[in-house]
Amino acid sequence: MQTPAHLLGIEDLTLEQIQRLLDRAARFQQEAPPKTLAGKRLLLLFYEPSTRTRTSFEVAARRLGAETVSVSASASSIEKGESLLDTVYTLQAMVIHGIVMRHYASGAPTLVSRHVDVPVVNAGDGMHEHPTQALLDGFTILRHKGRFDGLKVAIVGDILHSRVARSNLLLLSRLGAEVRLCGPRTLLPQTFVSYGPRVHVTHDIEEALDGADVVMVLRIQMERMQESFFPSEAEYVSLYSVTPERLQLAHPKAIVMHPGPMIRGVEISADVADSPQSVIREQVENGVLIRMAALHELLGGEQ
Ligand code: ASP
Repeated sequence: MQTPAHLLGIEDLTLEQIQRLLDRAARFQQEAPPKTLAGKRLLLLFYEPSTRTRTSFEVAARRLGAETVSVSASASSIEKGESLLDTVYTLQAMVIHGIVMRHYASGAPTLVSRHVDVPVVNAGDGMHEHPTQALLDGFTILRHKGRFDGLKVAIVGDILHSRVARSNLLLLSRLGAEVRLCGPRTLLPQTFVSYGPRVHVTHDIEEALDGADVVMVLRIQMERMQESFFPSEAEYVSLYSVTPERLQLAHPKAIVMHPGPMIRGVEISADVADSPQSVIREQVENGVLIRMAALHELLGGEQ
């Protein structure tokens, strides 16, 4: 089986490659990881804010023995107007072996991957994909449910602007889950049904949550909206916030997920976020394992 040259999206991975990443992460959970990235330098290039993703890539890289160099748009010459490729060429001249990159423009990591000779990992590009988030979500689901086949996964929130939703629906539907997308019409166009027969669209949260095994809640991505997509926050909360009452519609053993950052009291109530059904912190822990697996496969592992 071929190791991918880059990790740009779930779309580009074969089922075997997905399985291998999940298996590798499981192995890293059980055994101390080998220092397969010793002597390597990883560039973390972030054009958008990040807490979890950036830190967990950093922790993952160091656990495998790599050195990391962090560059963020707000504290570099990017703010002075330097182009994306000029920034990358400059940083590459300092000898780097891989690039983890987040960018507000969909497709930016793909563009960079065509101009460098080191692996590029997409850590979230605009409204396009966030592959390691979906992989860590899949890994977390597997730990709790033991399978994907026939699993009912409700993804509730701002689907339109969410790269997490897109990567997850691609991953989970391919692995056999039934994905129910739910949100207001303006944040969830009907066109999402084109992702395949296992992807359903509903604007009714009760229908989405009914008997769901997994409830994934997403933030409203205000930073990607130039206009108003819903009348008021209060109306959104009344129609789509995941509350304890609504969660009761799901399977009694349903797990609740959120990629973070979560806005308590808006898309999710504090009681749900802190309930025993919530696996939100576990998602963060699993993020390190998945990112170790990805870096190991791309930069350091046995082929
Ligand atoms: N952290 C996730 C992302 O970067 C989700 C979010 O920001 O709402 O896409």
